[in-house]
Amino acid sequence: MRFGLLGDIHANLVALDAVLADMGPVDQYWCLGDVVGYGPQPSECIERLCELDHVVVMGNHDAAAIGRISARSFNGDARRAIEWTARQLDRSDLSYIRGMPDKLQHEQVLLVHASPADPLWEYITSTAQAGDAFESTDAPYTFVGHTHVPLVFLLDAQGNILPGTPSDKMLLRLGNERLLINPGSVGQPRDGDPRAAYAIVDTGKSTVEFHRVEYDIREAQTRMQNVGASEWLTERLAYGR
Ligand code: ZN
Repeated sequence: MRFGLLGDIHANLVALDAVLADMGPVDQYWCLGDVVGYGPQPSECIERLCELDHVVVMGNHDAAAIGRISARSFNGDARRAIEWTARQLDRSDLSYIRGMPDKLQHEQVLLVHASPADPLWEYITSTAQAGDAFESTDAPYTFVGHTHVPLVFLLDAQGNILPGTPSDKMLLRLGNERLLINPGSVGQPRDGDPRAAYAIVDTGKSTVEFHRVEYDIREAQTRMQNVGASEWLTERLAYGR
């Protein structure tokens, strides 16, 4: 079976559609939260996902958009984007977001937006944080989003944690080692590469493939300008920061 990993779409439909086209058919999509927030098309992104066989966990921006956490926990631009997003969501969008669980575990796989111990907030950027995450779950393979930076942490048999930065078209073999994997962000990459990021888990081949795909950033920016998004949030798409 092939599973498409979609992290941090952030209401960027242009990027989402480019990723879906590039990915081709998969058996199911695994969505790592922050479907909405920042971007100009929250309802359209929810609608697109609902056309697909997918599972999804809740991100901090999703939680804020439905008022589960306060928009005041976010900085100015993010807060204004959350308030704008909340006004766009219709009844079915709200119930879709309310239905997102904090975590999903199935057989060997855990899906969570931020970290196993703190599903909405904790950023995993260091081996120490990855170590805490491995201790907080017994899942062999944990997939997270939240940082918008593709990362892999491998826990070897000696208990060492080896970090790695996946590049486009990199293939990682699923073996006996435990893994913590962030596929990067579809809708707002922050690793300096503005291309949309995604990954494919292939359980038949026991691999994870990492991918980057160009999308029409200018079109996404135009759509942001049309809804009055902040200049910084609009510009950063071009830099991938
Ligand atoms: Zn995010």
